[in-house]
Amino acid sequence: MNDNTNSPLWKLDEAVEIYCKDIGMTYRAEGGRDVKAIVGINLKIKKGEFVSLLGPSGCGKTTLLRIIGDLLMPTEGSVYIDGGLPQNARLKKKYGMVFQSAVLYEWRTVWKNVRLPLEILKVPRAEVPDRINRVLELVELTKFKNHYPHELSGGMQQRVSIARAFAIDPEILLMDEPFSALDEFTREKLHEDLLRIWRQTNKTVVFVTHNIAESVFLSDKVFVLSPHPGRLSAEIEIDLPRPRLSQMRNSPRFNELVVKIRNSFEGI
Ligand code: ADP
Ligand code: MG
Repeated sequence: MNDNTNSPLWKLDEAVEIYCKDIGMTYRAEGGRDVKAIVGINLKIKKGEFVSLLGPSGCGKTTLLRIIGDLLMPTEGSVYIDGGLPQNARLKKKYGMVFQSAVLYEWRTVWKNVRLPLEILKVPRAEVPDRINRVLELVELTKFKNHYPHELSGGMQQRVSIARAFAIDPEILLMDEPFSALDEFTREKLHEDLLRIWRQTNKTVVFVTHNIAESVFLSDKVFVLSPHPGRLSAEIEIDLPRPRLSQMRNSPRFNELVVKIRNSFEGI
């Protein structure tokens, strides 16, 4: 039998974890006019890559992220996760999600908030404490495990939601403007925390933001979306070395990349 599984094309495809092919989404308004949110989106994201979806408010970032995470069916095109359907990826618990607000239960401690997805997924009881301890350590919140959300700062609450997303050990982390409600100092600290966690865990991260500098600091690659309707207007490799250090924000290359991205926006 001719075994061609080692051909370069096969290897290339194998490295792709998320493949969006001709994705379009038109929201059908009841009795009103339809909203064409995104059109003709083609993109590939490799396993272990950190990518950003960047664009102004209303350009369809959340729509695209929800389609990738199987929370929304596109009206055109298909998404493949590891070559299969997003639905299968969801059933196999491949996704972790973090949103703009931490969405924690006020009456549950940090520990019990992080435990929630494990309860829902009926993870064997004996495994649960170890898993929670591991992710709380990852986000450096071990000392706060018995605190309630209102006893924590906004940045700490967002770290709890990151720990909760990691508790199920997903392959793909989908983050929708997770730091946009935080002050700049807290946000920059969380950037470094997130990159450290990403390095330690080897997840694929799809990070939605409208902040150019944030996308440059974090990403391997930035997908620039332009609005009305949302389409991919550029795909920019971020060639800054890793680990990313805070002082890189002042480097000439960092600023060149910011300018390059700013110039790539169309139709605004
Ligand atoms: P972003 O996350 O970039 O701000 P969204 O994906 O939320 O953009 O929205 C893209 C476009 O789709 C916007 O014009 C928005 O008003 C519209 N939209 C989003 N969700 C819905 C919905 N459920 N029904 C109708 N229109 C929607
Ligand atoms: Mg959004």
